[in-house]
Amino acid sequence: MSGSMLKNIWLPYTQMQTCNNPIVAELTKGSKITLRDGTELIDGIASWWTACHGYNHSYIAEQVQKQLYKMPHIMFGGIIHEPAIKLSAKLASLLPGNLNKVFFTESGSVSVEVAMKMAIQFWLNQNHLKKTKILSFYGGYHGDTMATMAVCDPDEGMHQLFQGILPHQHIIALPKTKQLQQEFIAFLEKHHHEIAAILIEPLVQGAGGMLIHDPELLMFLRQQADHFNILLIFDEIFTGLGRTGSLFACNQANVVPDIITLSKALSGGTMALAATIAREHIFNGFLSDKENHALMHGPTFMANPLACACAIASLELFDQYDWKNNVKNIELQMTAELEVCRKLDIVKDVRVKGAIGVVELHKIKNINLLKNRLLDHKVWIRPFGDIIYLTPSFTITTAELTKLTQAIVHTLFYG
Ligand SMILES: *Cc1c(COP(=O)(O)O)cnc(C)c1O
Repeated sequence: MSGSMLKNIWLPYTQMQTCNNPIVAELTKGSKITLRDGTELIDGIASWWTACHGYNHSYIAEQVQKQLYKMPHIMFGGIIHEPAIKLSAKLASLLPGNLNKVFFTESGSVSVEVAMKMAIQFWLNQNHLKKTKILSFYGGYHGDTMATMAVCDPDEGMHQLFQGILPHQHIIALPKTKQLQQEFIAFLEKHHHEIAAILIEPLVQGAGGMLIHDPELLMFLRQQADHFNILLIFDEIFTGLGRTGSLFACNQANVVPDIITLSKALSGGTMALAATIAREHIFNGFLSDKENHALMHGPTFMANPLACACAIASLELFDQYDWKNNVKNIELQMTAELEVCRKLDIVKDVRVKGAIGVVELHKIKNINLLKNRLLDHKVWIRPFGDIIYLTPSFTITTAELTKLTQAIVHTLFYG
């Protein structure tokens, strides 16, 4: 039976030869997933941290429904619409500095590709023909497409397989120490003339290993980028929209990047939507009497009105409850309840930042077994690499969060 369900399905990051028992989701609500067989799971990761206000938020549903009957989709070439006008204005008002120019796409990877293209074309338009490379960092994750794979962590990333055929980019160590800062500066002295932009996930590197760094590091990057005439791109697809405790991670460093990417929680986890947002001086670099100085990109479903309606509703929800306090409480609770894992020899580190809780093991030996053990506790948690992590919705209850942390603690202590 289960085999036949998978007859025509190809799952992501999954060895299909040994995958024969998928669970089937039927309903979602808040932080709960109900399966077809009636089992209720508490969701620990909010569907890859998209459902920041919980699943099926009634306000988002209402707003999407209104838009659905008015105009579910229209192309965005040469014609615009109210949901895009409203959403872009809202984003510009929420983002720091003059991050004012919003380019919509439909996935995170594509928004990062657009940011990379934007940075490179920005220099090309000014006749800087050599500034064509991106500088990114070990531990980073920026997407699965060919161009974004090339800026992910080359060892930890999921893409080692393609290493040889990806375009060569510069990937170096995060300048976390004085020594590494000096090496970073030396690197830029040598290579700045060929670097269009520095690309980083600010404060927390997500899918590359859930690694946390200090806001000061972002200030250092801003200084160096300015000094060496390089653009600074923050990929806030993971960290944006409240996940680290502030609306955007860059708020905590008081740093304004030249370009920022958003997706994941942008639509409150309801529709596929992403945005690449640039500061005025980047946008102005494309103004010219030459047609081919225009930004050369345009996904068919960009700025889909339904997705924009979701995002407007989701952003409005941030004003309707004290999400910051919720994230603070989630942080305190995860810190208190996961700390005990540190006692185990198999545990390498326990770390928490905002609504992100991580237990890192020295080695997860059998990840499928671990996934099944967690499922036995009726929780939906998806470890990767040597990491077990929680990125719950901001509306999760204390009792639900305890179930999640205890499922991890119990599984690690008693197998
Ligand atoms: C998920 C993610 C992406 C890729 O987004 P997709 O929508 O999966 O293409 C890029 N960058 C970061 C930081 C992410 O977390």
